Amino acid sequence: MNHPLLSTNIFTKVYYWLISERCYICDIQNEGLLCRSCAKHLTRNRTLCVSCARPMSSLVELCGHCQTNRPSFQNVIAPLVYEGLTRAMITKAKFEDQAHLLRPLTQILAATLIDELDLTKSWHWTVVPTGKQSLLERGFCQTSLIRQLLKNPIRDASGKTFKIFNVTRSFERPAQHSLNKADRFRLSHKTFNVPQPVPEYVVLIDDLITTGSTIEACSKALKKAGTKQVVIAALARTPAQSSDYR
Ligand SMILES: [Zn+2]
Ligand SMILES: [Zn+2]
Repeated sequence: MNHPLLSTNIFTKVYYWLISERCYICDIQNEGLLCRSCAKHLTRNRTLCVSCARPMSSLVELCGHCQTNRPSFQNVIAPLVYEGLTRAMITKAKFEDQAHLLRPLTQILAATLIDELDLTKSWHWTVVPTGKQSLLERGFCQTSLIRQLLKNPIRDASGKTFKIFNVTRSFERPAQHSLNKADRFRLSHKTFNVPQPVPEYVVLIDDLITTGSTIEACSKALKKAGTKQVVIAALARTPAQSSDYR
């Protein structure tokens, strides 16, 4: 497959970000952000745990982890499996200065949220805050960018104002991808500050969900502060057997 967007040429990036009528991946003329052929390379997360959206090999209601530790959030909406092209696009967006690749992925997330989220409720949209160290490395906050890209489609579909709400980190810790699974769980407690008053219904946005420890810590902080329901929205979820805790 041809990947013209993997160029870091500034004109290429601005063109695709703002005015492209071509597929973001293969560059053929196309009305949508991705042509049908490239979209097929994004693995959809269809056989999944109804609670944490972990991709499963067979259709069971809850994964083993959710059966023993029911999460504090309502459910996770994550339309893609973090592998293949999805994985390449998220990695390039986060670590190789190609944030525009989040746009077609967020479009898929928006369509899934419109299908699956109860838009009659008055949701407030928050993000898992990016740590200072990651912000310095990347120069942008990918979760805030995803939220910004969700604004128009969600507002149009719900007919409601897109309300935002911010959670902050209470202390700095090493970047997620530098921690192993045990360290993530150990360090995930008491990491988030939730300003009062808290909204009743919160959608918490992250780009990628791996162990789920960060979203659980953030969701717990929201619930403890008084939020009734937290739904997680993410571009992708790692496969169940993945040893890659990026
Ligand atoms: Zn294409
Ligand atoms: Zn689960």
